[in-house]
Amino acid sequence: MNLVARDQKSIWHPLTQHQTAAPPVPIARGEGAYLIDYDENRYLDLISSWWVNLHGHANPEIAQAIYQQALKLEQVIFAGFTHEPAVSLAEKLLSLLPSVYTKVFYSDNGSTAIEIALKMAYQYWRNKGEEQRRRFVSFQNSYHGDTFGAMSVGRENVFSSQFDDLLFAVDKISFPATWMQDEITVEKEQMVLNEMETFLKKHAHETAAVIIEPLLQGACGMNMCTPRFLKNLEMLVRQHDVLMIYDEVLTGFGRTGELFACIKAQTTPDIVCLAKGLTGGFLPLAVTTCHEKIYEAFLGDNFNYTLAHGHTFSANPLGCVAALKSLEILTRPETLQQIAMIERVHKEELMQLQVETNIERARVCGTVAAFDLATHTSYGSNFSLALRSQFLKRGLLLRPLGNVIYFLPPYCVTEAELRHAYKIVMQEIQGVTA
Ligand SMILES: *Cc1c(COP(=O)(O)O)cnc(C)c1O
Repeated sequence: MNLVARDQKSIWHPLTQHQTAAPPVPIARGEGAYLIDYDENRYLDLISSWWVNLHGHANPEIAQAIYQQALKLEQVIFAGFTHEPAVSLAEKLLSLLPSVYTKVFYSDNGSTAIEIALKMAYQYWRNKGEEQRRRFVSFQNSYHGDTFGAMSVGRENVFSSQFDDLLFAVDKISFPATWMQDEITVEKEQMVLNEMETFLKKHAHETAAVIIEPLLQGACGMNMCTPRFLKNLEMLVRQHDVLMIYDEVLTGFGRTGELFACIKAQTTPDIVCLAKGLTGGFLPLAVTTCHEKIYEAFLGDNFNYTLAHGHTFSANPLGCVAALKSLEILTRPETLQQIAMIERVHKEELMQLQVETNIERARVCGTVAAFDLATHTSYGSNFSLALRSQFLKRGLLLRPLGNVIYFLPPYCVTEAELRHAYKIVMQEIQGVTA
């Protein structure tokens, strides 16, 4: 039996309506920015395989690091024990982040990193005797993962709507989505800040934390905001003595043009969540990092003060060495040049697309570019599925989010590959937007 038939017999895929979905594409191997199927068709991976890949598929340096570690120690219980890769990675991450972060809590995916951040914030206040701080604030169109706490702060989005009744209450604030040549950015930001201020004046004393996807909201449409907005937001939230959580699961590790969105916005939220790009896309690993004051609030002579949270595969040594190698590659001058190149090409090509087609809301944040097609369609609609398979036929792996088309390439993509991809996209959408 061929692979697709065997797959369809035994596998239930994520985020897939199996009654209508096209059969999955079996991938034999990866090479740089390409995925290659069994017939040697090559697909340029413009979404970094769900936003995780940084340095290309099957990167030999990372593969080698994992292999060498696997011969030494593959896994060890992380309560009561430690190991060199976990310590080195924590030190490395803390040296790259702003100096206010002093502790790293390991887990194994973005959703769990969020759960941990929410629990840290909530219990922080309880441990300090402020048990009335039960509210969380998040932004419209945010996405923070698929577990219950993460769904709660992302509530009202297409991914969580079936479970609304089971989610905890969250206060939603507008998100000042902006784009290139958007003339009312400052007004939009001010309106949101006013909305936040009104909320905080009334409810700060019963609010644990505000959580945001900084600079870039991913799954709900690649919406962007400015560093200035984040700076002003931070000032406001601090004035009201509420904790700030950054969900940098997507924005970490160079995606926004800087190593982290918090650095780009010159902000220091109390808690930061990292996952996706952490291991360069090789293994599931995540961290939640925080200021010392958060950690200290959990110290005491009684287990009640403890953060009672742990995952079996916390700080898996193979994931940690993959992350260390990925960070080494990420901070090389040639990688940083690639990141700058990608941003430049995005801007130039989007300007051109705006001239040649009638796309809307063209926007760029570092290595991520997005625009809307002037047609209205929702996530998972037949239209966006058809567009997806059309791109695939032309050798591009793109996954439009409803009417939003976005590019989120690995940093090893070449300028020629990227420009070629834009050319194909231009041809494919001309019919749609004419
Ligand atoms: C993908 C994502 C998550 C969830 O990460 P998983 O590893 O899929 O659980 C959380 N927040 C953001 C911003 C994401 O993009």
